[in-house]
Amino acid sequence: MKNIVLLGAPGAGKGTQAALIANEYNIPHISTGAILRKHIKEGTELGVQAKTFIDQGMLVPDSVVIDIVADRLGQGDAKNGYILDGFPRTIAQAEALDKVATIDLVLDINVPFDAIIERLGGRLVCSCGATSHIQWVDSDKRCPKCGEVMYVRDDDKPETVSARLEVYTKQTAPLVEYYGKKGNLVSVDVSASDTVEEVFEIVKKVL
Ligand code: AMP
Repeated sequence: MKNIVLLGAPGAGKGTQAALIANEYNIPHISTGAILRKHIKEGTELGVQAKTFIDQGMLVPDSVVIDIVADRLGQGDAKNGYILDGFPRTIAQAEALDKVATIDLVLDINVPFDAIIERLGGRLVCSCGATSHIQWVDSDKRCPKCGEVMYVRDDDKPETVSARLEVYTKQTAPLVEYYGKKGNLVSVDVSASDTVEEVFEIVKKVL
């Protein structure tokens, strides 16, 4: 399998699709957001630092996430391919990645912003990694995968969501052009009504 980057705005479905791809092709799913949230949960120094940025919808400094990814890509299970979810998010991160890896495919999941706002507004996550939406779970908010009670991510609050979308537009969207010029970018246009399975079918065709 190949080294893949998933691009897309927050709430575009990167995490969900990355998990499906990782499972289907048996490659590690590397999410910088998940790694940072683990640090926060464990109360590490890095986690304490990162939390101030994440809670404001801002990006964690490039040097921090670049080190995290360089370290993770050096682990044995990343030798036969991986899927990067949420990294790179800036041109500086993409340039740093180019120095340590060859990226075979960049998949850009393109979802209209109004659909994103609607999705993030009701997004529920679980400590097991599952993601759902308020409209899909029962009132007790039990995770369909593991049965734990799901919760709203701190950075999915409406005021933080708009900051994250602004950050995406300014700092991450330029990566579409960056990878477009390199020639390894494929954009998938997703509409609000497309299901997870429908998007995954399209993604599999691309892969
Ligand atoms: P995510 O789970 O990918 O939506 O990431 C959640 C938050 O973690 C983001 O809003 C950022 O604050 C931070 N984060 C995750 N990945 C990166 C990255 N590559 N660069 C900077 N900050 C990141």
